[in-house]
Amino acid sequence: MSQPAPAATAEAAAAAEALAEDLAVRLEAGERRALARAITLVESTRPDHRAAAEALMRRLYGKHDQAIRVGLSGTPGVGKSTFIESFGMMLVKAGLKVAVLAVDPSSARTGGSILGDKTRMEYLTREKNAFIRPSPSSAALGGVARRTREAIILCEAAGFDVILVETVGVGQSETMVADMTDIFLLLMAPAGGDELQGVKRGIMEICDMILVNKADGDLKPAAERTRADYAGALRLLRKRPQDPKDFPKAIAVSALEDRGLETVWEEIRALDGWRREGGIRDNRRREQAVTWMRAEIEGRLAELFRSAPAVAELLPKLEAQVGGGDTPPDTAAAEALAAFRKALG
Ligand code: GDP
Repeated sequence: MSQPAPAATAEAAAAAEALAEDLAVRLEAGERRALARAITLVESTRPDHRAAAEALMRRLYGKHDQAIRVGLSGTPGVGKSTFIESFGMMLVKAGLKVAVLAVDPSSARTGGSILGDKTRMEYLTREKNAFIRPSPSSAALGGVARRTREAIILCEAAGFDVILVETVGVGQSETMVADMTDIFLLLMAPAGGDELQGVKRGIMEICDMILVNKADGDLKPAAERTRADYAGALRLLRKRPQDPKDFPKAIAVSALEDRGLETVWEEIRALDGWRREGGIRDNRRREQAVTWMRAEIEGRLAELFRSAPAVAELLPKLEAQVGGGDTPPDTAAAEALAAFRKALG
């Protein structure tokens, strides 16, 4: 691989810095188009875009930390978009700026995108103080995570007060979203008692509030029973000594009829305020930053590995051997890594 001439490198670096500076200034002035453009930039894998995105992060990172980052998860059909629409509208009416981002594990696989689709939040989309961005399509969930973490920083620089990060009920993506937010909400549907087991223990452990949606009409009694069951399960599951004693909690809401949403916001603010005062929020964000760095290193290593010509050549052969049952996976992996090490010199 030929190295670019030093002059070209310096030129490229200067261009990345210039683009980053221009975007940073416009973002901090709250310019919407600059936000959309900056997110497109951090989603791109083109090397010059990556350079500009990194320069942008260096300018903005750690400068704006007023926002509350809220993760929201739930299975398809539970009412996430209805909730985001109603909850988001309530916040906008209260004078807050709301950004909605999405981590869609299926978009990572198929390239399609359902979550964060603007047509799902018809009214919120039209608000000038709301910003909705669908999940990026990417070959890997790690790429989606990186984009979303950076997009959060960009939204904060643009003056957003609440950053909602939506995902679907798949373990890995939920943990990922909990790892980039301050508060994690799980949206559930009313159910019979035996369905409680459907919630994985790991998810109960990371959520701060379970919202039982559709607490309206005929479903109201079931929603209330489900809420009580979850409240009991959460109490049994664990104590978080650093949180107020009544957290995590379960609340019944109706996204459709706007019921319980103010309570949810009050509870979010109470918990966030408590954690800010006690330094818990900042600690958590610092830990998340370290996790982010580790994920970044792993992602880049994997990329480096796959793009090494020696590895690219060897890998299909090894895969055929392992697939054919001739070579143990462990042996093949060792061989691939040996080729990589040799290529590194
Ligand atoms: P998502 O797939 O999680 O985004 O779910 P949607 O927001 O698209 O909602 C799925 C269905 O549930 C739609 O038909 C909604 O109208 C309905 N729904 C959402 N929230 C409520 C609610 O609070 N009460 C009732 N009765 N239905 C709701």
